[in-house]
Amino acid sequence: MSSNFSIFKIGVGPSSSHTLGPMLAGNLFCKKIVKRLNEVDRIQIILYGSLSLTGKGHLSDKAVIWGLNGLEARNLSAPVQEEANKNALEKGKINLCGEKELKFNYEKDLIFSKDFLPLHENGMQIKAFDVKNEIVEEETYYSVGGGFVLTAQELEKRGKNSNQSTMKLDIELNNAQQALDFCEKNGWDLAELSYNYELQFHTKEEIRSYCLEIWEVMQEVYYNGTHPTEEYLPGKLNLKRRAKGMKERIAMTADPMGMIDFISLYAIAVAEENASGAKVVTAPTNGACAVIPAVMLYLKNHTVGFNDEQAINFLLTAMLIGSLYKKNASISGAEAGCQAEIGSASSMAAAAMATVLGANAFKACNAAEMAMEHHLGLTCDPVAGLVQIPCIERNAFGAIKAISAARMAMTRQSTPKVGLDEVIETMYETGKDMNYKYKETSLGGLATNLKTVC
Ligand code: SF4
Repeated sequence: MSSNFSIFKIGVGPSSSHTLGPMLAGNLFCKKIVKRLNEVDRIQIILYGSLSLTGKGHLSDKAVIWGLNGLEARNLSAPVQEEANKNALEKGKINLCGEKELKFNYEKDLIFSKDFLPLHENGMQIKAFDVKNEIVEEETYYSVGGGFVLTAQELEKRGKNSNQSTMKLDIELNNAQQALDFCEKNGWDLAELSYNYELQFHTKEEIRSYCLEIWEVMQEVYYNGTHPTEEYLPGKLNLKRRAKGMKERIAMTADPMGMIDFISLYAIAVAEENASGAKVVTAPTNGACAVIPAVMLYLKNHTVGFNDEQAINFLLTAMLIGSLYKKNASISGAEAGCQAEIGSASSMAAAAMATVLGANAFKACNAAEMAMEHHLGLTCDPVAGLVQIPCIERNAFGAIKAISAARMAMTRQSTPKVGLDEVIETMYETGKDMNYKYKETSLGGLATNLKTVC
């Protein structure tokens, strides 16, 4: 059992599992090898499964290189990324852990393997060799979604139910029913429950400043998305960025349905930033990073009284719901399809919106349930391996569904038949049954049928 702060991370686009995760794996390998750098002569990286199949579009190759250069997501900037790319791809060198310059042959030392490793769809290996070509150190990493990385040993040990530590806490949150029971007993809503849960790991000040920083970065990303420096997104789709133009056009319309246009704008602006490889907040993944900010911006700009306190409550609720998906199912498109990414984000946003508008825990869980129920079966088929089509627009639909689910749950008079735990279980089973072609491999769906691109 641990804090849920890791559900929201400041990272880089376009993908938490395929960009942030591989970068973190590079950082972890640096920590492992840093005391033996004098022995290392060469580094080899092997990307497997989905990381290999969609790795170039998701920048997985470059991300591992950034990580091995000792760069960290929080402090990345475009010029620093560019320099590391140029060194590795053009000048044939890598600055291992930021401390030792090595020769690096991108074609030979970075391998895109067609194989899948046994424990997860997103596997990778990093190996360090000495001058005699003998292994100094090696590790197998799995990027399990949302920017989380585990070694093979850790993943094997974890199993599906063993990510609960033996540490005994007053508040244990393993499933939605447990959350509802705590709320009923204490008269809490979900935000209060999450706050009290987090107090077991952080001080009041830390909770507040963490949430406000996340909210500030989300707003900064929206601003950047509506003030882009480039007209087109990177990659072979040659996709024109739409948020800036949308913002100008929406401002001129008096259409009564304009509210939906605003929500789409918020989501598209943030998702385009992610697609460009810029700084975003994973929420709970990069592909789905725009759903939650879009709903928060809707509340801030189009409802009365959405202030910092409400933003904190929103994020606390959302991270609690996100943690239930992470513990009991998946937040990885490569593991369970897009329902695990956009569906989870929509479910988190629905519960959070309902809570800040006054819903009790039961109604908020119903909002979360509905938002996921109507994402079940959603496949992950990113065209050309880029987090652009269908991902960018899909964030807008995820946000609109979240708002709809929150409103439906709040006005509901009847007792819901489906519980949140049941829908989480269903999502995971559906994801496991889903053909691998539809789980972030770009081997099916729109990724293969869009003839004009491929
Ligand atoms: S289709 Fe969904 S899960 Fe797949 S990369 Fe795009 S946003 Fe992520």
